Amino acid sequence: MNVLERVAEAEPLEAQVQSWLAQFEDALSRGDDAALHDLFHAESYWRDILALTWTIQTVSGSGAIAEALTATRGMKPSGFTLDPARTTPRVTTRAGTQSTEAFFQFETATGRCNGVVRLIGGKAWTLMTALDEIKGHEECTGKRRPTGQSHSRDFRGPNWLDQRKSAACYDDSDPVVLVVGGGHAGLSIAARLKQLGIDTLIVDREKRIGDNWRNRYHALTLHNQVQVNHLPYMPFPPSWPTYIPKDKLAGWFEAYVESLELNYWTGTELVDGAYDEAAQNWTVTLRRDGAARAMRPRHIVMGTGVSGIPNIPDIPSLQDFAGKVLHSSQYRDGEDWQAKRAIVIGTGNSGHDIAQDLYSSGATVTLVQRSPTLIVNIEPSAQLAYTLYDEGPPLDDCDLIAASMPTSLVRRSHQALTEQGRKLDKPLLDRLEQRGFKLDWGEDDTGWQFKYLTRGGGYYFNVGCSDLVAEGEIALKQFSDIDRFVADGARMRDGSLVAADLVIFATGYKGQEALVRKLFGDEVASRVGPIWGFGGSEELRNMFVRTPQPGLWFIGGSLAQCRIYSKYLGLQIKAIEEGLLPKQV
Ligand SMILES: Cc1cc2nc3c(=O)[nH]c(=O)nc-3n(C[C@H](O)[C@H](O)[C@H](O)COP(=O)(O)OP(=O)(O)OC[C@H]3O[C@@H](n4cnc5c(N)ncnc54)[C@H](O)[C@@H]3O)c2cc1C
Repeated sequence: MNVLERVAEAEPLEAQVQSWLAQFEDALSRGDDAALHDLFHAESYWRDILALTWTIQTVSGSGAIAEALTATRGMKPSGFTLDPARTTPRVTTRAGTQSTEAFFQFETATGRCNGVVRLIGGKAWTLMTALDEIKGHEECTGKRRPTGQSHSRDFRGPNWLDQRKSAACYDDSDPVVLVVGGGHAGLSIAARLKQLGIDTLIVDREKRIGDNWRNRYHALTLHNQVQVNHLPYMPFPPSWPTYIPKDKLAGWFEAYVESLELNYWTGTELVDGAYDEAAQNWTVTLRRDGAARAMRPRHIVMGTGVSGIPNIPDIPSLQDFAGKVLHSSQYRDGEDWQAKRAIVIGTGNSGHDIAQDLYSSGATVTLVQRSPTLIVNIEPSAQLAYTLYDEGPPLDDCDLIAASMPTSLVRRSHQALTEQGRKLDKPLLDRLEQRGFKLDWGEDDTGWQFKYLTRGGGYYFNVGCSDLVAEGEIALKQFSDIDRFVADGARMRDGSLVAADLVIFATGYKGQEALVRKLFGDEVASRVGPIWGFGGSEELRNMFVRTPQPGLWFIGGSLAQCRIYSKYLGLQIKAIEEGLLPKQV
């Protein structure tokens, strides 16, 4: 550390950050590339979430950051100051590096914004700028909540219930936004749009709100802890269990829709859709309780999650198998398979959970591994990634911190967490390897989080199934050792038979692209391109931002991701509807 850096470190944290913000604003307002360059370390990151670029992007390195920031002067950013409503500046360690972390606020010509800066020796290591609200189009919450007077002062007019029913029926109207899928992704974006005053309808093919969780296996509880998983606006009660059971979450979804007055059609499937360039809207076909209904929304938000199209490998000899074949999405309950013999193909979360459910119901189970899989104990290893949410700051601050970390640094932290988890879980992992289970740690040892973000699977949070495999209670075979399927099971290359009444393919789902192609056709699918995963960039592809197809949006991921990014997706749709942002990228 040189003298200047030591002086900077000695300053009170608030003064240090305020001074950096003042210099930053001055350099930015003058478009002074050199001064901006000087305010950042050579290895540094700027992530913008709509505030200055109307997209979500990360720029790395002081030179590129200075150039990119200078190009944003048209947004007229000003008033950079510490945010008095948020956690005060403090020294934290992120991705193994210590820095002064501070929340700030500022505004642009169109919006009120906030951000997080991390300083090391007076220079920025990371900077995140995010749009918080659009001026003149703030959310109808808190002091801006509806008065409710209109529901009671006109005694002969429609009351609240009449108005709710009429808003949700769409007899003579179409919603501005159609949200396809009413899991947490769909609920989060619909809740945000409602607060922004945008007419939104959620459709889901399931019969009852929450069925996306209710219909999953008997013993399911969430894999991460309650404090990480709140939906927007309505946190779970403090009495709730640390790991939320599936039916409790399903019930909460119903309560959420009711409380936040979301328009939700159950038993309604989006069958197809085409975009009318001239009219700037979609024409979609919905199938509701067997009847077709056409609608013309201006935007479609796909919240269809993983439950798009099941992926089943093409195995010609499977037709010789005389027992039942299911995809994991069709599996309901082990009770149906008591004292029967099951082969479960696939060693991700679903495969392990189904194998354990069958075993607990008295079935004889063989788990078949197709490729090396990452195993991490649910506690403490799988929870290491969420320690931020136990640090003390309120949820909103934690969400901003989470959003402020550029992907390169998140990768670095996950390499360290993976290493830590490997050490903690070593006794189990050794026993699994002795059984012949093939382990892996993800690309560049970045662990389960990046497997999730790049391919949506390939790992298992051990809630007991790995122990059963290690103990030999659940048998293990390698897929490559199967010669072919025969009437009563799988014939192995060594001539032995794994007898089975049931074969379950826990082999995941086809990517969102396949669903887009099926619903909207080849042209739209090709225009949009890959969805989810990074493809070499720093941001998830086509997620939460405008896509190359006007009026088509994607939301998905964990409860936390949807809580955080639904806000920004909602702001973009609002900006388009208010004529502040073009629909076309
Ligand atoms: C055992 C387990 C534990 C998990 N634990 C956690 C956890 O702790 N934290 C966490 O964040 N995540 C967890 N997840 C992962 C993830 O959050 C869930 O898989 C979640 O269901 C994804 O939500 P979603 O809203 O994106 O999609 P989904 O829940 O899959 O919902 C999509 C909805 O879209 C509907 N749909 C699809 N196509 C159409 C169509 N054409 N028309 C109408 N409707 C349609 C479906 O019916 C479905 O209801 C867990 C998953 C599992 C299996």
